[in-house]
This record gives sequence, C-alpha cells and structure tokens, in this order.
Amino acid sequence: EIQFEHVKKSYGDTEVVKDLNFTIKEGERLILLGPSGCGKSTILRMIAGLENITDGNLYMNGEKMNHVPSGLRNVSMVFQNYALYPHMTVKQNIVYGLKVQKLPKQEMENRLNSVMEILQLRGLEDRLPKSLSGGQRQRVALARATVKRSDFFLLDEPLSNLDAQLRESARKELVKIHEMFNQTIVYVTHDQIEAMTFADRIALMYNGELQMLDTPDNVYHRPANVFTAKFIGSPS
Ligand code: ATP
Ligand code: MG
Repeated sequence: EIQFEHVKKSYGDTEVVKDLNFTIKEGERLILLGPSGCGKSTILRMIAGLENITDGNLYMNGEKMNHVPSGLRNVSMVFQNYALYPHMTVKQNIVYGLKVQKLPKQEMENRLNSVMEILQLRGLEDRLPKSLSGGQRQRVALARATVKRSDFFLLDEPLSNLDAQLRESARKELVKIHEMFNQTIVYVTHDQIEAMTFADRIALMYNGELQMLDTPDNVYHRPANVFTAKFIGSPS
C-alpha cells in the first residue's frame, strides 16, 4: 500500500505536484495517465525516494517514508530513459540489483536465465548498452527491474520503444510476474489500450493534480469531469 497524504512537490516557486491525496492498494496495478509534464515521473521518483517531497506525508505499508533513503525502500523502477550503467554489460546490469540484495548464486542464475528468456535477451549477455538498439535497452531495463521482485514496482513508459508484438508479449509477461509476486505496480503510459487492459485502476493527472482515480470502466463511462472525458475520449 502506498498512501499520499497532502503531498506536494515544488521546484523553486513552481509547484509541479499539488496536494496529492490518494492510496494505492496493496497488490494493485495502478496506471498513471496524463499529458506530458503533468507530474507522472515526479510521482514515481517520490515513491522511489529519488526526490524529496516538499510537503505532506508518504506512507508505504503504513510506514512513513518521507526521509527513508531510496536504497532502503523495497522498490524497483524502470526509468523513462532506461538509465542503464554504461560501463556494465547487459548481464552485469541485470544482476547488479541482486548482488546488493545478497541473493544466493544459484537463485541469481535462475532468475537471470528466466528473465533473459522471457524478454528475448539471449545472446546479448556480454554487450555494452551503447551497442544496443533502443528496444533492446528498454528490455534490459525491464529485466533489471523485474529480477528484483520488489514489493513496489514502478514503471515509467517501459514498453514505449518496443514494436507491437514485443510490447504485447512483454505486457503479458508483466501480468504473469504480477500474478506470481503480487507486487504493487505503478505504471506510467501514454498508451490508452495499455491502460485499459492492464489497470485495476487508472489515476489521471493534469497539471500536478489528480483528476480521477477509478476503474478503467468508470473512467471511460463515468468521467468525473470535462478534462477526464476529453482526455479519455469518452462517448458523450
Ligand atoms: P512526460 O510525460 O513528458 O514524461 P511527466 O508527467 O512525467 O511528463 P514530470 O517529469 O513529472 O512530468 O515533470 C513535471 C513537471 O516538473 C514538468 O513541468 C517539469 O518540467 C518539471 N520538473 C521536473 N523535474 C524538474 C527539475 N529537476 N527542476 C525543475 N522542474 C522540474
Ligand atoms: Mg515522465
């Protein structure tokens, strides 16, 4: 469970997240939607502990996290720009997080093998990120985050660079992983179909404010306001 209590985030005088009050349920797949610049990545980064919140409180599983450093939060994140370690090979990038977790070697190998298979990364083990295509980098970033099996899984447009076929298989894989480990997932996407098919609930943001938080069905058929109806393209 992730609870935002009057959470605000400012850069200088600019408030980019305004008074967020909502709860993401344990084990839920929440999709974060909204136009560019509305604050989606900022929200993920606050959950991950990569940005301090300016005001309010953030709780994870009931514990106040405002000042808990990123490394001590049970979180994996796939970044919008992949953020791979440039000097590490594909394999090193993927297992890096597991080394920090101090997993037994056999378990590490098992997880690595399974994720390489699932995300079709076989044969790329020893390549450096700069030699990979955009889609391959994205899959490495996804693999690096999924092997950790953290309680909280944050994904920032994780499939945007994949072709339709790979995107569909990666999406199915994410659903499978979610069913196995029951992680709480916060997933940013611009893809409405992805949102409608993947989400338990959709949180729609505009200008740093939450517009609506509800099931895909309700967001589509019972939009809470004009912005929501327009953004989602609800039938009128
Ligand atoms: P996109 O869909 O384009 O990725 P987003 O919803 O993820 O957009 P954010 O990256 O969360 O948007 O940014 C929200 C707002 O905060 C934007 O106006 C952005 O310019 C601003 N912002 C983000 N990081 C900083 C920073 N370090 N300093 C100043 N402003 C920032
Ligand atoms: Mg973003």
